Amino acid sequence: MNSISKLILLAAVSSLALASCEKAQTTAGANESSANETPASVATPINSNVKSNGKAKNVILFIGDGMGISTITAARIFDGQSKGMSGEDNMLSFEEFPHLSLVKTYNLDAQVADSAGTASAMNTGLKTQISKINVRPDGLFAGCADSAAVQTTLFADMAERAGMSTGIVTTTRLTHATPAAFYGHSPSRYWEHDGDITPDGVQRGCIDLATQMINYSGTGMDGGLEIALGGGRRNFLSKDEGGRRKDGVNLTVNWSKKSNAHTYVGDASALRALDPADKNNVLGLFDKSHLDYEADRENAEQPSLTEMTEFAIKNLEARGTGYYLMVEAGRIDHAHHGSNAYRALSETQELARAVALADKLTNDEDTLILVTADHSHVLTIAGYPALGNPILGLVRSIDRKTGKPSSETSKDADGLPYTTLGYHNGQNPRSDVPQTDNMVQAKDYKQQSAIRRASETHAGEDVALYAKGPGADKVHGVIDQAEIFDIMVEAVGLDK
Ligand SMILES: [Zn+2]
Repeated sequence: MNSISKLILLAAVSSLALASCEKAQTTAGANESSANETPASVATPINSNVKSNGKAKNVILFIGDGMGISTITAARIFDGQSKGMSGEDNMLSFEEFPHLSLVKTYNLDAQVADSAGTASAMNTGLKTQISKINVRPDGLFAGCADSAAVQTTLFADMAERAGMSTGIVTTTRLTHATPAAFYGHSPSRYWEHDGDITPDGVQRGCIDLATQMINYSGTGMDGGLEIALGGGRRNFLSKDEGGRRKDGVNLTVNWSKKSNAHTYVGDASALRALDPADKNNVLGLFDKSHLDYEADRENAEQPSLTEMTEFAIKNLEARGTGYYLMVEAGRIDHAHHGSNAYRALSETQELARAVALADKLTNDEDTLILVTADHSHVLTIAGYPALGNPILGLVRSIDRKTGKPSSETSKDADGLPYTTLGYHNGQNPRSDVPQTDNMVQAKDYKQQSAIRRASETHAGEDVALYAKGPGADKVHGVIDQAEIFDIMVEAVGLDK
């Protein structure tokens, strides 16, 4: 461990010990009373009196990839308006949780973080460099066969060692950065299948992330992951079988060979044919790459994030062992990179549905539920739109004479209308073509930006962490992302 990460860990311990949780509880109380006209499709009762002297049996960590605070605010309004409300007074399911922190996301070598370094921090309690998965900052090839460097211990390792079950649900490839940090170690997040590994990585015995996932044992007695549902089939199959692997191995077969309880499903109907209470260890790969956006998903072909979450929780609850489940809404990030706010907000809305269901299926007395983001994006909400103005729409302000929303759009200094949502950088820089309501509210519209870039970027401000259940009272104040690991360890009472 270098001195920077030691400092981070020390800071983690002191801030956990010092701060008080009264503020977070007061805020939650105020929120409850203002949520007056919510039609309750996502609202769930809050038990803010959960005694935290009891330990958590289960931990569910929800990660909205790229779900910065502006994304949450915009999704709250988007969700409310989709239910016929004005939108601003709506609440997403996790916004009703009683405990809240701001979280610093930087990587050891990057002011604006990526998903590999941030997911590593949450899963190991140690920050690492950008694009690396669970490797110590002092060894480029740590985690590979010829490296003497000590591997980092994962939260999943500790859970498995304690006899808990473990599971991952994601809308991205299961080998993508965030899910990979649940089970893997890799000097590069891009080494998803064996053909991705660079020659020096091959020489040093580095193993691709798909193989690591299938072979993951977690130092437990029961053979590693119980549940892995998501996309990325191509990284588990050989070229002959329509995949990308060069070694000719079919990793889905290797999964099924692990035990009689190990089952592979390749489509939604095969998943739906399983009874989650049968406690099968299920690998589900529902697309060759990432799953479709919720806005485009065909239900017959792919399960939703909520459906996968429901299956995972019912399966893991049936075991009675306690569990660690990580659920990633991974494509909020991808929609933002494409400057497409519509899909980013719809993905966030789906995450809120999955959280609401998880809360309903679990007991507040024994399950810690955390909802956070790995990093933010450069989405902004601006321009003085009137209350209830469509969140994806052109700005129309309050007419000062009538006190009602103006029928005319607001104009910029060049006389052009503009949208409430915009990106600091991205694919659609501001132009002289006047935008219309039809254009800007379409599903495929790319919001305008100040700086032209092929891909919109992550943002560096803090993200939020929402929590309820045993151990949630440690979530308050400004924390480092690596402290999320400590909060989970302490909540369950695991030995490091
Ligand atoms: Zn990203």
